[in-house]
Amino acid sequence: MVFWEGYVSDEAMGIIAPMVVYWVYAGFYQLVLPSLDEYRLHSRKEEDEKNLVPFHSVVKGVLIQQLLQATIGFSIFLLTSTTTSTTLAQRQQPSIQHQIAQIILAMLIVDAWQYFVHRYMHHNKFLYRKVHSQHHRLVVPYAVGTLYSHPVEAVFDTVGGGVAFILSGMTPRTSVFFFSFHIVKTVDDHCGMLLPWNLVPRVFYNNAAYHDVHHQLQGSKYNYSQAFFSIWDRVCGTHMPYVVVKRDGAGYEARLVRRVG
Ligand SMILES: [Zn+2]
Ligand SMILES: [Zn+2]
Repeated sequence: MVFWEGYVSDEAMGIIAPMVVYWVYAGFYQLVLPSLDEYRLHSRKEEDEKNLVPFHSVVKGVLIQQLLQATIGFSIFLLTSTTTSTTLAQRQQPSIQHQIAQIILAMLIVDAWQYFVHRYMHHNKFLYRKVHSQHHRLVVPYAVGTLYSHPVEAVFDTVGGGVAFILSGMTPRTSVFFFSFHIVKTVDDHCGMLLPWNLVPRVFYNNAAYHDVHHQLQGSKYNYSQAFFSIWDRVCGTHMPYVVVKRDGAGYEARLVRRVG
């Protein structure tokens, strides 16, 4: 039993919930937390000076990305629901343990997909210049800019989520929780802050500092792994170790510990 039962289908919720979660969670970071300079990985001055795209263009880019996600997500749900004969009301939900196992499997699938697509976009000069460099216009990431990327990249990422949904065998209802958590984790990775009371970056080694290294010019050929673990960076030798140190003035800094050539 979920609160939306009887009002909205699980499929519709699987599309709507991650969008709502995005704007609420990223909006919270954006509006409430700027005053908390002592937890920032970059100063506000750096954010203004280094970022190459204005805020309103970022918001527009994110809305386009979400429109694409909704269209592809709707198509995937449509395709997969016609292959089963069960109606929405009859659909059995697996046990909690089974759903957790499916979510972990989906996380591993998303990580593998995103690592190799992301890494290829850095190594292929045409794809980097025309597609992925859009995301890197935010040299100092911030929460609302999490999903700021080229529409082609949005398609790749959403298809990866669809592959994880299908291969893990999760129901649309489980996917509501999986995709919502996926968004929370991705926003956390781009929020540009290390908050002591936020448990997500404590549980996951791949956090805002880890991804901040990738957004820095020196670290852009490293730390490709997203959205959950750092497995593929370690397996493929692209893991860049770093230390989080206190920054002059206020806040923290993710400092690379090995020279890059
Ligand atoms: Zn990148
Ligand atoms: Zn990023």
